[in-house]
Amino acid sequence: MNCWIEGSADTDFSIYNIPFGIFSAEGYSKRIGIAIGDQIMDLKVAAILGIFDEMNLSVTLWEEDTLNKFISLGKKVTSRVRWIIQKELSDDNSILRTSDQLLIPMADAQMHMPVHVGDYTDFYSSIEHATNLGKMFRDPDNALLPNWRHLPVGYHGRASSIVVSGTDIHRPKGQTKPPEGNPVFGPTKRLDFELEMGFIVGKNTNLGDSIPVNDAEDYIFGMVIFNDWSARDIQKWEYVPLGPFLGKSFASSISPWVVTLDALDSYRVPSPKQEPTVLPYLQYNGDRNFDIALEVSITPEGGNENVVSRSNFKYMYWNMSQQLAHHTVNGCNVNVGDMMASGTISGKDENSYGSMLEIASAGKNPLTLDDGSTRVFINDGDTVTMRASSIKDGHRVGFGEVTGKVLPAK
Ligand code: CA
Repeated sequence: MNCWIEGSADTDFSIYNIPFGIFSAEGYSKRIGIAIGDQIMDLKVAAILGIFDEMNLSVTLWEEDTLNKFISLGKKVTSRVRWIIQKELSDDNSILRTSDQLLIPMADAQMHMPVHVGDYTDFYSSIEHATNLGKMFRDPDNALLPNWRHLPVGYHGRASSIVVSGTDIHRPKGQTKPPEGNPVFGPTKRLDFELEMGFIVGKNTNLGDSIPVNDAEDYIFGMVIFNDWSARDIQKWEYVPLGPFLGKSFASSISPWVVTLDALDSYRVPSPKQEPTVLPYLQYNGDRNFDIALEVSITPEGGNENVVSRSNFKYMYWNMSQQLAHHTVNGCNVNVGDMMASGTISGKDENSYGSMLEIASAGKNPLTLDDGSTRVFINDGDTVTMRASSIKDGHRVGFGEVTGKVLPAK
C-alpha cells in the first residue's frame, strides 16, 4: 500500500498501523483521531466527508473523549473503520484530500488518555524477569516459585493512577524499613521503571463467564506501551503477604496511541516452549506472541537521551490469550477499557533487562550515563522514555513512545 501522506512509511505510524487515540488542539475539543506519519487525522472531519457512510455511525461518536464507546461497537465495526481509512489513504483521488481541516500536525496537538480504564491487572509473565528477581530476593538456585510455570501470576492494580505519556510523576513517599532499626517515612530512595506492554479489553463478559483461550483475541482491542513505575524500597517492606500495594499504585504511564491487534497480525511469532505442559484451559493454537522491539532510555535534566535497555515482547513466557483465559477462568467479568499489563519484559542478557533493579543489580552495579553521572535507580529530573515498534518486510508498525519526568516528592 502506498500512502499519499509523505514520509509516513518510515514512521511508527505507517499506513499498515492506523492506531486510535484521543487528541485535542487549538479549535478542537477532545475527540478521536488516528496517527499517520507525523499527523493526526480527525475522524469527525473524515466522517463528515462521508467515508464511513456505509456504516451508519453517528458523527457524535467521533467526539467522544475516550475510545470506550467506539471499541464497544465490536471488531466488525472497528476493523472496518480501520480498513476504510487505509483504503482512502492509499487512494490518490480520495475525498479526504479535499479538506484542509482533516490533518493536524502532532506537534500542535495534545494527547489524552485513550480509554477510561475501569480495572487494571498487572501480570508477571517474563521468565527472565521473574528469574532475575527470584535470584536477587530469594534463592539463586531456585529462583522461580512453584506456581510460576503453571499459571500466569498477576495482581489487581490501581486504575485511577494510570496516566498518559507526558504526565510528570512526583516521587512517591511511603514507609520503608532500613536494614537495621525501625521503619521510617519519606520519599522513596529506589524509584524504578518497569518496561511492559498493556492490552486493552475490547469486549465485555458477564459475571460467571470464562473466555476460552482460543477465543481470547476477540476480547483484545489493542495494545499500548506501559511503564509500571515502582518504588522498590516501599514495595520490599509492604508486599508480604498480599503483594504489591503503595509501591506500585502511585502511577503507571501509557503511550497514547492504541495499536490494534489487526495491525500487529503480521508480526506474530511462536512463544517460548512451556515446560511442563500447562493445564488444558491454558493450551492454545497458533502463534499468539508478537515480535515487538522495545527500548528504554533515561534523559537527565538538560542532558542527552541514554538508551539503557533493548528488549522484545516476544520473550514473554505467557501470552495475552493465556493471561485473559486465566483471568476469567473463575468467572471474573471483564469490561471494555480494562487494562492488562504484561509484567516487566526482560531478555536473557543484561542489555535487555526491563527495570533498573535488574540493570544495576539492586544497586550493586551502577550504570554510567554519557554525562558521567551514575544511576542505580531514577533521580529527580530524569525523564524515562520507552519506545516499541515492529518491522517486517519493510513494513513498520510502532507505538511511538511513553515518557514521564520524575519531579521531587510533593
Ligand atoms: Ca509490573
